[in-house]
Amino acid sequence: MSVTAQHRIRHSPRVGFVSLGCPKALVDSERILTQLRVEGYEIVGGYREADVVVVNTCGFIEAAQQESLDAIGEALAENGKVIVTGCLGKRAALIREHHPDVIAITGPHDYESVMRAVHVQLAPPARHPHLDLLPASGVKLTPRHYAYLKISEGCNHKCSFCIIPKLRGPLASRPIGEVLREAESLVCDGVKELLVVAQDTSAYGVDLHYAASSWRGRKYRTHLTDLCLGLGELGVWVRLHYVYPYPHVSEVIPLMAEGKVLPYLDIPLQHANARILKAMRRPAASAKALEHIRAWREICPDLTIRSTFIVGFPGETEREFEELLTFIRQAELDRVGCFTYSPVDGADANVLPDWVPAEVAEERRCVFMQTQAEISAQRLQRFCGRELQVLVDSVADGTAVARSFADAPEVDGVVWITGSHTLRPGQFARVRITQADQHDLAAVP
Ligand code: SF4
Repeated sequence: MSVTAQHRIRHSPRVGFVSLGCPKALVDSERILTQLRVEGYEIVGGYREADVVVVNTCGFIEAAQQESLDAIGEALAENGKVIVTGCLGKRAALIREHHPDVIAITGPHDYESVMRAVHVQLAPPARHPHLDLLPASGVKLTPRHYAYLKISEGCNHKCSFCIIPKLRGPLASRPIGEVLREAESLVCDGVKELLVVAQDTSAYGVDLHYAASSWRGRKYRTHLTDLCLGLGELGVWVRLHYVYPYPHVSEVIPLMAEGKVLPYLDIPLQHANARILKAMRRPAASAKALEHIRAWREICPDLTIRSTFIVGFPGETEREFEELLTFIRQAELDRVGCFTYSPVDGADANVLPDWVPAEVAEERRCVFMQTQAEISAQRLQRFCGRELQVLVDSVADGTAVARSFADAPEVDGVVWITGSHTLRPGQFARVRITQADQHDLAAVP
């Protein structure tokens, strides 16, 4: 190492970073880390080596708020200089009440304020042209072969159990040209799978009146369908998360059947009973959801649907819960997450009457998950004996852990491939499925 490099490393101001929360918060963390690196800050992995620590928090449910408050407390105890950002940053009074010594508090996706707070604490270093090189796509917190692509911020809905619109504001879409250019740059840097995220992916572009931009000499509207068309040109896997069953989602299903985007939809349905959905102020009714799912599967039989549900919502009766069970049996969803209702400070649902006792809600969650386990296991059986393309995530001792089009990273199952000594992480492979359980598949190369 040259003397200049040693000198610079010794004198680079060092920032520690703690990233909590959902994939959307992870993208915020990546943006802040990229800016820190662009300005010449060194990112360090331990509290003790850092000159200041940034904590990107989550404020979605009480458990997440507590985790964020604990992380701030730990950073203060270990380092002493802490800047807080992210969703919980909207609750500055709560943070100050627990941790009066934090240096600064900023809200979600407020990158400039975080950087201003860092500058006050630690002046940016002098730039060095050779050591400041960064990949064009910036710093990523995911493995090299997949990346989250955030297409919008905020949400225009007012679901009664959710405070995201209060924390993150109304829908603010990124112009499609900007999103497609970012996706292209990620693919150039080796990304093989793009995970499209937003609070409400189907609403993409409403706020911009679907304004068009140019990319690769063609016009694209800021709209989900055009986004899929554009991303489909990149030759990598494209997976859609947080899609609501609006009518125009049906335009995307033929693109899945054609292979432009993966036949995978992550649709948070939350419940099936009309009265509960109304009390939740959800944008869709269950009868329509069932109709849509059936129509989509006719066009694209391989479609994998992931969803999340809340049981024990205030006022939910046994009969309404039974209706939810009937719905999941009829809908035959592939992947499902289920949560018991958890009150979030500031959510409108908190004033609803007839709360379900915690033990009843937990019991319903267990029944729900048992019912779904059988459905998921049955759905996975359809892959046995088939050949599938998979993307390898890791390899150890001749066994590769990979994912098919039906598995999103972190939340779904995996494909275990035995006898795979030549496979490498980030590689696509064709495998034959030999076995299935309720989550995972087993395969041979
Ligand atoms: S759609 Fe509902 S649950 Fe989702 S972010 Fe918007 S308000 Fe919250």
